[in-house]
Amino acid sequence: MRCPLAKLDSGSYQLVIKLADKRRIKVGRLGSFVFPAGYYVYTGSAKRGLEARIARHLRRDKKLRWHIDYLLQFATVVEVNRYPNKVECELNKILSRQGGKVIVERFGSSDCMCETHLLYIGGSQANILHQ
Ligand SMILES: [Zn+2]
Repeated sequence: MRCPLAKLDSGSYQLVIKLADKRRIKVGRLGSFVFPAGYYVYTGSAKRGLEARIARHLRRDKKLRWHIDYLLQFATVVEVNRYPNKVECELNKILSRQGGKVIVERFGSSDCMCETHLLYIGGSQANILHQ
C-alpha cells in the first residue's frame, strides 16, 4: 500500500539536533565556529524530494555539501518534524522569537534574508515549543 503522505513530498521541515559535547566545527566556507553542547533546530525546505532530503540528513556517509552536513558529522538528529504547508523562514522566525539563539550567521540561509536557519535551543529538548 502506498503511504498516503507520499504525495506530500514537499514542504518545510525542522531537524532537532543534539550535540553531545561542545566542539569547534568547520562549516564549509563560512569558517570555523565553537558550538555549545545541547540542542539545535535546523529549518529547511524542499520543493520536491522532501523525504529523500530528510533521509540524506540522517545518513552519515556523504559528501559534505550544505552547512548542516558539517554539523551533522558530529551531532545527531533526534527528531524530524514536517510542515507541508508552512514557509521555512516563518518557522525559523517563530523559533527565534521563542528564544532560539544564533550561533553561526548565514548558516543555511544563503538564499533568504534570515540571520540563520540554525538556532540553538540550549541544554534541554523541552525548550522547543511546537507550532
Ligand atoms: Zn530564511
